[in-house]
Amino acid sequence: MRNLDAWRGLPAAQQPEWHDPAELSSVLDELSQLPPLVFAGECDQLKDRLAAAQRGESFVLQGGDCAETFAGATASAVQNKLKTLLQMAVVLTYAAQVPVVKIGRMAGQFAKPRSSPDETSDGVTLPAYRGDAVNGFEFTAESRRPDPRRLIRAYHSSATILNLCRAFANGGYADLRQVHAWNQDFVATSPAGKDYEHLASEIDRALAFMRACKAEPAEVHTVEFWSSHEALLLDYESALTRVDPRTSWPYAVSAHMVWIGERTRQLDHAHLEWASRIRNPLGVKLGPSTTPDDALAIIERLNPSAEPGRLTFVTRMGADRVRDTLPLLVEKVTASGAPVTWVCDPMHGNTFRSPSGYKTRRVDDIFDEVTGFFEVHRALRTHPGGIHIEFTGDEVTECVGGGHGLLEADLHHRYETVCDPRLNRRQSLDLAFKVAELYRL
Ligand code: PEP
Ligand code: MN
Repeated sequence: MRNLDAWRGLPAAQQPEWHDPAELSSVLDELSQLPPLVFAGECDQLKDRLAAAQRGESFVLQGGDCAETFAGATASAVQNKLKTLLQMAVVLTYAAQVPVVKIGRMAGQFAKPRSSPDETSDGVTLPAYRGDAVNGFEFTAESRRPDPRRLIRAYHSSATILNLCRAFANGGYADLRQVHAWNQDFVATSPAGKDYEHLASEIDRALAFMRACKAEPAEVHTVEFWSSHEALLLDYESALTRVDPRTSWPYAVSAHMVWIGERTRQLDHAHLEWASRIRNPLGVKLGPSTTPDDALAIIERLNPSAEPGRLTFVTRMGADRVRDTLPLLVEKVTASGAPVTWVCDPMHGNTFRSPSGYKTRRVDDIFDEVTGFFEVHRALRTHPGGIHIEFTGDEVTECVGGGHGLLEADLHHRYETVCDPRLNRRQSLDLAFKVAELYRL
């Protein structure tokens, strides 16, 4: 008998201190009655797509905010993010000629692990912000108090965002004949936008050619889009774990794919235990201290039957370490014969605080880590399966450098993230061109 509750007896890192157990329990009861956000069959399809990426037949583009907010669940914010993701995917599909698996770090990314449980500002110490699913970003005692009712809001915001994504993906907006429209508000001011416009014109010509040949496949008109987030809050995830009536297998129905973060992937802790029981495709973040034995033990826990597409390792080594730390991991895992999709997160190993106090990242470091990731996989003849990034569709000023040369002194203009710094739209598009170039080499 599968024991979906076995995680409850184990240590779980990074869980909020809810103050009122009765309220938490009534919230969890309510959540467990709410409809699934995704269906088991969809999760299985994504698993097939990730298996293709593992075999080298496609490339994963996974991204979105570090932390989504309830206030960000608006049509325009979601549309901007999706538009940027679609533009990046088109660049990769056309320039690198590889099918792209589009996965949003969206519709559920509402909980954050923190390096410290508290935050001190001007001599006042309060609980750290743990994501909108737990407490408020505003630095007041009232807002920082964990509130279980927020879990219900996280569910409804996820539903709203996922509904928008599904509508944009299938309702005509993601039609490849819209390649120019996605760029309209952008091209005039941006070199990346101009490069994109050039590529979009080529796509137009290719589409016109296909139409003239009377060969226009349905794939041109819609895209497949998948949701993902870090499965951090086990109470929430567990209330949204359901047994699929078709197969009797349990699935997380909060997102198509969930991942376990670098801070919660201990082998004998609750997160891996819970994840081992569900059938969704899983990601696990691996930082620079990961040993090959750690990676092999995670594989043994999460994918003992070597199911293709089940397990994605999202490596986040840092630009200065990726070339030293990644080769041995990839080599040993590959030698074990385990099917693993390798995805590069070039964000989390490259964060630093600027002298002005902003948490930031250099676009050059991000490019460099992705370059190192490709070099390592090319040298070992394994497949660089994708990238996992933090970005937004708006012109924020959170990461420094890039084609536009954003300076540390510019960070204050539009520093809007509630957690880690995100690539803005043009930096994201620059990255897509860069990755396409690496892919073609
Ligand atoms: C994140 O993805 O925002 C995150 C906290 O990552 P990691 O688990 O790699 O530190
Ligand atoms: Mn982050």
